Amino acid sequence: MMRHFLLPFFILCFSCSSNHDLLITNVSVINIETGKVTVSDIVIKDSIIVKIAEPGTIANNAETHIDGSNNYMIPALWDMHVHIQDSSYLRLFLDHGVTGVRDMGGCVHKPTDGCESLCAEYLNQWKSDMRLGKMRGPRLFIAGYLLSGTGWPTSLSVSNKEEVAVAFQQNLEDQVDFIKVYEKIPWESYKEIARLSKLHGLDFVGHVSEPFLLSDILDLGQKSIEHIREPLLYSFTKDSLELEQFMMADGYSEEDRKIVQPWLHDSERVVEAFKRNQAWITPTMAVQYARLRYNDEPWISHPIRDQLPESVNQGMHAHMESMSASMDKKGDSLWWMALTKLVKRFSMEEIGLLAGSDTACEGGLPGYSLHEELFLMVEEAGLSPLEALQTATVNPCRFFNLKKHGKIAEGYYADLVLLTNNPLSNIRNTLAIKAVIQNGNVERFN
Ligand SMILES: [Zn+2]
Repeated sequence: MMRHFLLPFFILCFSCSSNHDLLITNVSVINIETGKVTVSDIVIKDSIIVKIAEPGTIANNAETHIDGSNNYMIPALWDMHVHIQDSSYLRLFLDHGVTGVRDMGGCVHKPTDGCESLCAEYLNQWKSDMRLGKMRGPRLFIAGYLLSGTGWPTSLSVSNKEEVAVAFQQNLEDQVDFIKVYEKIPWESYKEIARLSKLHGLDFVGHVSEPFLLSDILDLGQKSIEHIREPLLYSFTKDSLELEQFMMADGYSEEDRKIVQPWLHDSERVVEAFKRNQAWITPTMAVQYARLRYNDEPWISHPIRDQLPESVNQGMHAHMESMSASMDKKGDSLWWMALTKLVKRFSMEEIGLLAGSDTACEGGLPGYSLHEELFLMVEEAGLSPLEALQTATVNPCRFFNLKKHGKIAEGYYADLVLLTNNPLSNIRNTLAIKAVIQNGNVERFN
């Protein structure tokens, strides 16, 4: 007996099993690699897309039917840089079409300002509950404790090889999916992290430790570089006047100026090293844009904030106040322009870009901010909508080596977003969500 979908907005689909058939008819399917759009019927069975065919050629006997006429289908989205501090985030991700996230770690036991994650024990419990169908949320890859030389209290110190071994032991016990390095890590420790990561079959990703060359860090095997911050910006800044303005905006001392010297004019080597090592970059434009939006009232009082822990919202307000007090607005916008140019340069060089919002740090909104990341890539950095969409779909799945994810093709997992308007003609249409499907389950329908 066929069931037509007439469900209320934001239905929670706890009772939907993945063992039924779902038929979506007449939908404009976007090929995420080529941008080609083909009107098709799609059959989903047991979490998998089993058939894609011309409209009207499939027997219409599925349990559930969605009429996709005039709608567009894209693979579901990934946010590749988040810090989860509350279970409310999980539903927000799904409702925004984000069915996969990379949690970039930290270890707090209760929400703070949003910039680091709950400890692995909580996230692992949720992962287990999700596997058992007791909880709904995105596919979750976690970093656990950060490895850092900064002495940050909730990171693990890696100031020598012995400490690296202890840190690995802890993170292995915590069943992390990858290792995240933070900053100020001595070179001997960095090498040991690379060695142990390889030994245990884990990727290591993260920030850049000063004063090392980015190209050397990439050659050690760091798989992704998070954020576009000083080492990257300075490596690519050719104009000495611009460089001087950045250093002034960052309040650089004479000592700091010496540290950046090796990075300068290193851009060609950095590009080569990214390519040679097939490394990725997560620009996290959305979190860095927060620096410029201290008076963006609709964003500051966005309704999603009502669902977030109070401490996260307080963190956002504190950040906005400090940004609003910043005396160097010209420096801030120069810095933003340099950052956007760099994202475009990486895209033109075909270096792998990953969409990551750094939610909910500095006011990021779980789920929603991933869309903003895509908007910024298109509207500020000049990527095409297709290129931006790839950074949140097919690229993350390549990054994680997930063979049957990230595309709309027969044999692939049915993680899909149905949109009422074409995102290739306007990237903002990624928010025109009609349905979110994860593992063949309809998680949202309106
Ligand atoms: Zn982060």
